[in-house]
Amino acid sequence: MGKRDYYEILGVSRNADDDEIKRAYRRLALKYHPDRNPGDKEAEERFKEASEAYEVLRDPEKRRIYDQYGHAGLEGSGFRGFSGFEDIFSTFSDIFEEFFGFRTSGSRTRAREGTSLRYDLEISLEDAYFGCEKEITFHRWNQCSTCRGSGIEPGKEPQICPTCRGRGQIVRSQGFFQISTTCPACHGQGQVIKDPCPECDGEGRVKVMRRITVKIPPGVDTGSQLRLRGEGEPGEYGGPPGDLYVVIRVKEHHFFAREGNHLLCEVPISFVQAALGGTISIPMIGGGEEIELSIPPGTQPGEVLTAPGCGMPSLNGRDRGDLYVKLNVVIPKKLTKRQRELLEELAKIESSKVKKKHDKFWHKFTR
Ligand SMILES: [Zn+2]
Ligand SMILES: [Zn+2]
Repeated sequence: MGKRDYYEILGVSRNADDDEIKRAYRRLALKYHPDRNPGDKEAEERFKEASEAYEVLRDPEKRRIYDQYGHAGLEGSGFRGFSGFEDIFSTFSDIFEEFFGFRTSGSRTRAREGTSLRYDLEISLEDAYFGCEKEITFHRWNQCSTCRGSGIEPGKEPQICPTCRGRGQIVRSQGFFQISTTCPACHGQGQVIKDPCPECDGEGRVKVMRRITVKIPPGVDTGSQLRLRGEGEPGEYGGPPGDLYVVIRVKEHHFFAREGNHLLCEVPISFVQAALGGTISIPMIGGGEEIELSIPPGTQPGEVLTAPGCGMPSLNGRDRGDLYVKLNVVIPKKLTKRQRELLEELAKIESSKVKKKHDKFWHKFTR
């Protein structure tokens, strides 16, 4: 695809004056600035395109060549456009400062949001059930209070960079073009620090231990993330601080297993209870009152009883999961004399029944 027309890109007429061109570029630069469109390739292209168009049309000599010979004319005169964002920011640092209210010459001086932090927190199933408050301690950078983040010893001033005389960029002439590059001495900041702050060694920030109380709502599960706004690293050059993400891991419970908001457990019952029916009591999490469940007569091993609404609360606080109780029928390993007598009695009845059934069964074939 061929290159688009520079006037078309900026949306101005061919006889637009410098002011019109600048206003048009300002509008596009604000709209497509990479800080406002992180990861957006389309915006990135628009930003680069507009920057190149502006670079040409703001320069009377380049504009004259472009008007007369088009893109090919500029290429013939050695114009290459920009290699990337750094290039654009360093070239337009003054303009961007005017546009955005802060210096954007090179990444070092762009306002940047602080890094977000992650804290892994392990809690019990009881804590997840009731919700809880936990005190956590972590390290993070804070702005140095001695120099207020400037990195300069209090009372001292930053020096104007002698290499670039405070412009942040160095202009070299090549043929009849002037090429700007970021000043290597001050990395485009236009200032150098001669007297670094003794507290932070000129870093502008210090590492501190932070202790905060985190409120954990009922219903959290492993993988739940709590976002604490502004508790991450401080921002740079006026950017907002990052966030702290508390990532929850719920420990395994000795009695209850969890599936989403449902709780599962296994309870042993005797074969007599299974046959005759009965009731069982299930302890609740955190030692609350017990739940009574009735076992229907004729219950089979592995059958599951459901206690609706006796599971975990949901995070939205509106509903609750269920409790599923799996019944394990236990066969006694030792019998008292009396138990043995009764069981033998039972066996007699059963074997005669079986025999009778068998008799009928065989009849069908022998008749
Ligand atoms: Zn300091
Ligand atoms: Zn410099």
